Amino acid sequence: MVAGLVATVAIPAYAATVPPSNTVTLGEMSAPDNQSMVVASDVASETLDRSSYSATTADEIQKKKDQEAAAAAAAERARQLAASAGASLSNIDLNMTAPGSGEVRWPLTSYVLGRGLWDSGYHQGVDLLAPGGQPIFAAAAGVVSTSSESFGGYGVGIVIEHVINGQKVSTTYGHMTYGSRQVQAGDTVAAGQLIGLVGSTGSSTANHLHFEVHINGQVVDPYAWLQQNAG
Ligand SMILES: [Zn+2]
Repeated sequence: MVAGLVATVAIPAYAATVPPSNTVTLGEMSAPDNQSMVVASDVASETLDRSSYSATTADEIQKKKDQEAAAAAAAERARQLAASAGASLSNIDLNMTAPGSGEVRWPLTSYVLGRGLWDSGYHQGVDLLAPGGQPIFAAAAGVVSTSSESFGGYGVGIVIEHVINGQKVSTTYGHMTYGSRQVQAGDTVAAGQLIGLVGSTGSSTANHLHFEVHINGQVVDPYAWLQQNAG
């Protein structure tokens, strides 16, 4: 019993002095979160049990209570931080597909139209402005030829090769959120399959999808192509 009591007092006191890490990755999210919850519940039960205190004076007991309250607050902050960091992926059903039944689909379900083909200088695609974390869908069935966390100015980018009406078509998706890619080079994707999330990586200053279409190696206006073909 004594060893157990020492441990339960020591852990909250330590937690109170260590700020929650904000570098935790999405994959590690559940472990620190669970730990925080255990610490918080230990504090709550120990507070009701006077025998757990080695302190004897009113001042010392109050100090212990203050430490435990601080530890509980730190645990709650850690829990909230973990929850907010995990929100962009955990709130999304990664098996969802774009609405529609056509061979070609819109890569986003909602957007604000930004720069178009060749607008303001060298620009081989269209910019579809959308909040960070919004799902991006494959514009057609095909095979992934590039999937990278650092695809030059595209930042986190994906390229998919398709054959549509007998023509070689490739679609490019740029500036996605770090860690959000759902496909690797060589993967076969279905039309409308979720491939990643909107972000602002690479040469980008705001959340948007940079989308390109090349047909038989030639750049075409991707927005006009979507308007004519997607559905
Ligand atoms: Zn662009």
